Amino acid sequence: MDLNTEYDVVVIGSGLAGLTGANQLAKWGRRVLLLEQQPNLGGLAAWFRRRGGHVFDVSLHGFPFGMKKSCRKYWNQKITDSIIQLSRIRLDNPQFNITSSFELGDLTRLLIEHFRVPPEMVDRFFRRLKEMEFYSESSQTTRELLEESFPGRSDVHRLLMEPITYANGSTPEDPAITFGIVFSNFLNRGVYTFQGGTDNLVREMRLELENNGVHIRNRARAEKILVKQGKIAGITVGGQEIRCRAVLSNANLLHTILNLVGKEYFSPSYLDLAGSVRMSGSSCQVYLGIREGEEVPDFADLLFTSTLPHYDPAALSAKEVTSQSFSFYSPKIRPGHNRYTIVASSNARWDDWAHLSDEEYQADKQRLIGKTIANLERYLPGITDKIDHREAATPRTFARYTGHLLGASFGTKFEGLKVSQDISREIGGLFHTGSVGIIMSGWLGTVNYGVIVAHSLEVFLGSPSRGDQGGIHEI
Ligand SMILES: Cc1cc2nc3c(=O)[nH]c(=O)nc-3n(C[C@H](O)[C@H](O)[C@H](O)COP(=O)(O)OP(=O)(O)OC[C@H]3O[C@@H](n4cnc5c(N)ncnc54)[C@H](O)[C@@H]3O)c2cc1C
Repeated sequence: MDLNTEYDVVVIGSGLAGLTGANQLAKWGRRVLLLEQQPNLGGLAAWFRRRGGHVFDVSLHGFPFGMKKSCRKYWNQKITDSIIQLSRIRLDNPQFNITSSFELGDLTRLLIEHFRVPPEMVDRFFRRLKEMEFYSESSQTTRELLEESFPGRSDVHRLLMEPITYANGSTPEDPAITFGIVFSNFLNRGVYTFQGGTDNLVREMRLELENNGVHIRNRARAEKILVKQGKIAGITVGGQEIRCRAVLSNANLLHTILNLVGKEYFSPSYLDLAGSVRMSGSSCQVYLGIREGEEVPDFADLLFTSTLPHYDPAALSAKEVTSQSFSFYSPKIRPGHNRYTIVASSNARWDDWAHLSDEEYQADKQRLIGKTIANLERYLPGITDKIDHREAATPRTFARYTGHLLGASFGTKFEGLKVSQDISREIGGLFHTGSVGIIMSGWLGTVNYGVIVAHSLEVFLGSPSRGDQGGIHEI
């Protein structure tokens, strides 16, 4: 398809936020161009195929029930109907070994019966989470919230916090409101996945975008966002200039400000604020393909395993891996595809991997793979003999694939949300969406943030009535 020379909006990046924002704007009749530098759409909602018939999902481990509502509202019924629950989430560490659906009722039962917490204490805690207000001025940290709610109960703190640290890289020093929002989202109705795999989800999304008239270009890296007299004038891609009234950047927040636009276009106070934004942590993953004809015993959907004596967020990211989450993909997850794969994820630090020589890098990846398989053998004896593909990804892999600074897996820490939201005050027609501020990261957070920012952009383009339709208070 030939590109037009002019669009209402150019969306840079096809992560879940970029895809959802593009779809929403097209449904409102806007002429939208979506540019993605990779051959596939989806950003970190990624998959890849390997010899032996293996298909690996990168970030399809679990998301909250809220995805059903968001996909029904902003995508379609077919996508919504493919969302299924993962009911057996196992946590195994020196403090406890439990399996839960992570629904409110089941967690309440566990806290009272297994952890022997007084029922009124459990009830008070969940009520407290429900009442948390995004716009309240509280400076309480998650550590303070947990200590106040369950004093001295490091095992309970671990149960409540460790899965969230895996899920979005947050720590006990982050604001309690981020824990409140993320935890309430997960625990109300449990943990869900997309049946059919990431490739099918993204194929359905692409069809929907095309039906709504979005022009899509893969292998198309936006080079510059063009600004004239404080307003968006267009972008350049492949040396070609495309005019537009607005840009929705789904690229990394700081990359958008510093490289795609250029700092000379921003006020000093905004640049100060942007300068204080910290990236979230990164990840390592090990992808294990099971030989055709072999099966993996059905013992959990998700396993969080750690040999650390206590919950320790810094140690969770250590290069000498002690703590991993395992996702088990069976034909139940990919009907019609009679294969099993296992993906192990761990939190990781950019600095531990960024500066290695090629030989060191390859050797360390092999060590990670070896440790991962040894870890898995503790739960599935004999699994080593069934594996016929093994491969690792590191913070360098994620940085290369997405262009995210420091290979950030979940965007930015909390302070990034304001910088992302304020970008349109700096340059008329420039908007940012994508993982920021902990609460706007992950599959659900980015889908919702894509819609929230699309509403603001639509108001900018001249439809004030759309402005009432979304907001952070709605998530
Ligand atoms: C290992 C791992 C596991 C995860 N597991 C889960 C999970 O189980 N559940 C969950 O909810 N979340 C999970 N996440 C997080 C989730 O995947 C992300 O928060 C979400 O997918 C990010 O979406 P996004 O819209 O921010 O964009 P991204 O996915 O970050 O995509 C941005 C896109 O912009 C493109 N781009 C950047 N610059 C340009 C340019 N100049 N021109 C064109 N294109 C450009 C990139 O190529 C990329 O495709 C995981 C993340 C990782 C790394």
